[in-house]
Amino acid sequence: MLPEPFFAGPGIDRADALRDRPEAVAALLALPGARALAWDGGVPALDSTGALRWGEVRGDETLFLGLDNGAPRFAALPESVAGPQARTLLAQLGRDDAPLFAAALSLSSWHLRHGFCSVCGAASAMVRGGWARRCPSCDAEHYPRVDPVVIMLATFEDRLLLGRQPQYPPGRYSALAGFVEPGETIEAAVAREIGEEAGIAVTDVHYLASQPWPFPSSLMIGCTATATGDALTIDHDELDDARWFTRDEVAAALSGDPTAPFLAPPRFAIAWTLLDHWIGDA
Ligand SMILES: [Zn+2]
Repeated sequence: MLPEPFFAGPGIDRADALRDRPEAVAALLALPGARALAWDGGVPALDSTGALRWGEVRGDETLFLGLDNGAPRFAALPESVAGPQARTLLAQLGRDDAPLFAAALSLSSWHLRHGFCSVCGAASAMVRGGWARRCPSCDAEHYPRVDPVVIMLATFEDRLLLGRQPQYPPGRYSALAGFVEPGETIEAAVAREIGEEAGIAVTDVHYLASQPWPFPSSLMIGCTATATGDALTIDHDELDDARWFTRDEVAAALSGDPTAPFLAPPRFAIAWTLLDHWIGDA
């Protein structure tokens, strides 16, 4: 079975066809069933069950998020860009609302950071229900960023390569990852990142699953790869450490066993999903 990471799931109907019809979006905003996303410090607010909090529309909601079973969902732009507290909310966030949380957080962050045209420098304006900006001076259109990141499990003879980034909590190891560069395929990015960080050559790169990671706009692309050897040359500018782990060791970490040789990544990270898939894939 294919893994289903946190942030996957149906989300809501994004209703793209309505975005270019400002009068239709305005009519939806005026419907009694329309709701506006509540913000808390630049982050979508959650109720005690981990669901997104919604309130009455006020009329300044410029982001049209879509239709939830036909009911229009909007958001105003928050006053500030989300701080580091946004990630800590993920432990409370419910799976069903995770896709919309990611869309609202990533989209609003983009608007707050991209108010000026990158071609001519003039102030740009939101269009398409908040899913683009247009420059009134040079007419350039700008679309929300999505930054592809490869995250991968490299294996060698039934052992798995995991690494430690300096900012991880003590004991944590996770899948290696890095941004895809311009002009590069996903497969090439996987091979390059593993080569740079751990000195390992890989073959047979395969895609497994992906996950939006709205901090602010990454798309994690989960892959597997087969290493051609197990001798590591660690780039200590990137990693504190990297090691090979057995299936039993990974299984112990995922189950929270205090005697496990490392601390697993959090459940809402695609790394957790990839590790869980690997130990079930023997
Ligand atoms: Zn411009």
